[in-house]
Amino acid sequence: SPASQDFIQKEARYGARNYAPVPVVVDHAKDCLVWDVDGKEYIDMMSAYSSVSHGHLHPRIVAAAQRQLQKVAVMSRAYYGTTLGPLLEKLSEVTGFERALPMNTGAEAVETAIKCARRWGHRVKGIPDGQQKILVARGNFHGRTTTIIGFSSEEDYRSGFGPFDGGFQPFDYGDMESVKAAATGDTCAVLIEPIQGEAGVIVPPPGFFQQLRAWCTRNQVLLIDDEVQAGLGRTGKWFAFEHEGIRPDALILGKALGGGLLPVSAFCADDAVMQVFVPNSHGSTFGGNALAAAVALEGLKVLQEEGLVAHCAEKGEYLFRRLREVQAELAPLIRDVRGRGLWIGVDIEPSCTTARDLVERLAAHGVLSKETHDTVIRFAPPLTIPFDLMDRAVDIFHRVAREKYQ
Ligand code: PMP
Repeated sequence: SPASQDFIQKEARYGARNYAPVPVVVDHAKDCLVWDVDGKEYIDMMSAYSSVSHGHLHPRIVAAAQRQLQKVAVMSRAYYGTTLGPLLEKLSEVTGFERALPMNTGAEAVETAIKCARRWGHRVKGIPDGQQKILVARGNFHGRTTTIIGFSSEEDYRSGFGPFDGGFQPFDYGDMESVKAAATGDTCAVLIEPIQGEAGVIVPPPGFFQQLRAWCTRNQVLLIDDEVQAGLGRTGKWFAFEHEGIRPDALILGKALGGGLLPVSAFCADDAVMQVFVPNSHGSTFGGNALAAAVALEGLKVLQEEGLVAHCAEKGEYLFRRLREVQAELAPLIRDVRGRGLWIGVDIEPSCTTARDLVERLAAHGVLSKETHDTVIRFAPPLTIPFDLMDRAVDIFHRVAREKYQ
């Protein structure tokens, strides 16, 4: 439409070209539905890369924000406030970690973890400063800062950094022998996703995390679990590490921690690890600000009190089963359906079509999803999604995919 073209043109004309958005101009959203500028309705099956787990503009979280906006929004950590302490207490309750350090974006919380691990490696493990090594998995995605892209295995992300300089060593995800081969006496930490999201929703082989946990303990290496995307219910448990029957030494949260309203992230660990941070050793102007903390706290309460995590497990199984049915009917269009909870990757046979082509067709038919790489479509709706909306989305996917295939 002319209205949507106008907005698309402005972004294309004045913005950098670092994104290639699907041509839908979102105007407003409510829970699991989104409307474009022309009033067309969409089912949100991607929830802003898993950030909108509570549904768009959850009334309780919006109300908490509005209440806080009558009081104070940003004061920075130069002073104490009335919302950060309660948020940290709640985070400790839900994660089981003694302490948390609040930041804004996922990448910042990962950077925090890297700083922490290196200091810990030096002070506690006695590795000479500057020689600390952190093991990272091939195919990882932990954010976009220059340190983080320096250990990406994706050429597109790296922009001349890396590969694997600055004290990072790669191993093959899910392969314990490869971890052991990459490690040295200077290894202070393993930084890992419990499911590799951006790599295409890669679920680790059974037993891998148990072996990794045991190896880390034996070798005095921190196991740092990046649950920016996986955490807070997305996989059908509060944290994906629970599926593995392990507890990491540190946990990174982001995305859904902001209640679908704001960027809020956190690095969580016990005192023995967190103690490496002393005054002035780390910080952020906006990290843990009053408004962000109020919103994050209410978001955690909503997850707890509305039973969204248990719902996610049940709904995820249903969505998984329905997508597997589509896979069976449209063989060989779909190579694989994989994931946990409401975080599912549908892997398309590349000789049939691309994931992006299907994502655009889905959008044209009122379903928002997102591709990763050439072959995987990600479905990660809000945890609040009702069964009938999942049915509608899957039916549309079935129809769109069948059209393409036949
Ligand atoms: N870690 C993981 C596992 C992620 O999936 C992402 C984002 N997709 C990040 C970190 C980075 O988060 P942000 O974009 O908020 O910096």
